[in-house]
Amino acid sequence: MTLKLNAKAVSLAKQGKSIYNLTAGQLPFHPPKEFVEHLIDETKFLNSFQYSPVAGKQELRELVLGNFWRKRALEHLDPSIKEQMEVIVSNGAKHSLSNVLAALLNSGDEVITIAPYWLSYPVLIELWGGKSVSVEAERHNGFVPLVDEIEQAITSKTKAIILNSPNNPTGIYYSDKWMKEFATMISKYSDIIVISDEIYYDLSYFDPAPTYFYQFQPELLARTIILDGISKNLACTGLRIGYTIAPSELVAVLNRLQGQSTSGANSLVQNALIYLSDERINEFLEPICQHLRHNSELLRDKMFEYNLGDIFYQTNGAFYFVLDLSKTPYCKERSCKGDCSIQVCDEILDKTGVAIVPLSDFGVSNAARLSLVLPERDIIKAFDLLFSFLTNQLDS
Ligand code: PLP
Repeated sequence: MTLKLNAKAVSLAKQGKSIYNLTAGQLPFHPPKEFVEHLIDETKFLNSFQYSPVAGKQELRELVLGNFWRKRALEHLDPSIKEQMEVIVSNGAKHSLSNVLAALLNSGDEVITIAPYWLSYPVLIELWGGKSVSVEAERHNGFVPLVDEIEQAITSKTKAIILNSPNNPTGIYYSDKWMKEFATMISKYSDIIVISDEIYYDLSYFDPAPTYFYQFQPELLARTIILDGISKNLACTGLRIGYTIAPSELVAVLNRLQGQSTSGANSLVQNALIYLSDERINEFLEPICQHLRHNSELLRDKMFEYNLGDIFYQTNGAFYFVLDLSKTPYCKERSCKGDCSIQVCDEILDKTGVAIVPLSDFGVSNAARLSLVLPERDIIKAFDLLFSFLTNQLDS
């Protein structure tokens, strides 16, 4: 649906219509300059064009793991826990997740997801023979799921739970308190694996930074799988590098699977990543995070200006916001039955030139995802057009 709407937005732009594209799932910036320079430098070496080790280049794997321990403040963890974790590099975090689910799931295994979820979760779970069981995070609770409700969804068939904080599409991350509560709950279920999708970890714009359940109970790492990559924090969705940090027995299985399917990930990109320090990534992201925070504040101001304050909630990470279409004057008057988000997003695009993503495939009805990455001038114009349309004030 996103691609379809994008294609329509592009075709309308070609016809000369002003289009404001709020569908983007990527940062519209060039990656850090030094990284691009290293990519160019590395083209001098033959091994940049040759097969990489299946699990990824050793220096990169060590760098990823070292950064992980440091950023999660787990450097001084008991070596017996640390030594059991390893990294495997794949072709993007989606590929990492697909391999993990392929390795873990037997037919009929259940995986709990939190709705709204990233649309690939249920599709990949089902592709690998599992059953996706979703627990709804309600808008009136700021899209934070209730730990009790997650616990109620656990059955004897539950194999794993997928958490995604900071979250696509809601643009929030869960608090320390929530993570502690989750750690306490999940520690009771020793057979359940937690897949923690942390691809937006570096993109948070209010203090304190995101934390995770295993920081409060590190022994949970023995059944935790962390997904990360360079698509979001380095603005490199097209270079296809993802990381899985997991217990070594699982990494060994992933290694076998990857070796017989896609082989090792892109050599050139891995070689260049080895030179990219964490400090440089932080420097690169600082203005971007400020920009996202500013846009989230513009969004708040605009929603209150158009009397839509009751459906505003404060985002703090990733770069999205979920707009509850059902509570807007336009949708109330349109009195649609069931889920009308696809039609409404299409009408919005036709009438205003603003492209947004209907969330039907993300597990919620009558809602849409707005991306907060556009420059200030464009995003203000987009909000004005969108909210005046939804509050029936657009001059036709
Ligand atoms: N996880 C989430 C929550 C995402 O939003 C995305 C991309 O949109 C991914 C994983 C996959 O990222 P990659 O481009 O590394 O495959």
